[in-house]
Amino acid sequence: MTHTPGVDSPFRLHVRDLVRRPGTHREYSIDLTVPEALGTDVIAVPEGAPAALHVQCEVVTDGIWVNGNFTARAEGECSRCLDEVLMDLDVKVQGLFLYPDASYGEDDETDDVYEFDGESIDLTDIVRDAVVIVLPFTPLCDPDCPGLCDQCGARLVDEPGHSHEILDPRWSSLESVIDSLGLSEKEES
Ligand SMILES: [Zn+2]
Ligand SMILES: [Zn+2]
Repeated sequence: MTHTPGVDSPFRLHVRDLVRRPGTHREYSIDLTVPEALGTDVIAVPEGAPAALHVQCEVVTDGIWVNGNFTARAEGECSRCLDEVLMDLDVKVQGLFLYPDASYGEDDETDDVYEFDGESIDLTDIVRDAVVIVLPFTPLCDPDCPGLCDQCGARLVDEPGHSHEILDPRWSSLESVIDSLGLSEKEES
């Protein structure tokens, strides 16, 4: 799945007036509406959810260093009982955005380096990656969630001690043999 952020993406910072001014700082505090779900199939910040992006841009020699955090609420489903799971996220967002002509050392391999067009910085992918990495593969409403009864689907947390009589046919036929021989405890007592 590819994502082509629009020019109006809320994750896009317009930085043209910062470019080539080393030492300049600017903070961005953006309250936004998430334009498309951020997360996985089992838990995600849903499209349309409110979120906030707070970042500081620092102009360095070869580009702009972006550092800050993204806060939002993820919604998912407990993998045991299917109850709703809500997770408040506060994830770190950072990256070095290089000018198109920047000569960054090829030996300096790091995941946090990106290129940008000198006009604006799009943080969509950085935010998505930061969110996905903190989301659980198997969301749970509670680490001790007992899940659902595998026979009737009852939520076990609501019904402590919930159980069913064993209906194994081998036992019921044995019981009928015991009954016919007059050996059951009930008849003895
Ligand atoms: Zn649960
Ligand atoms: Zn049950």
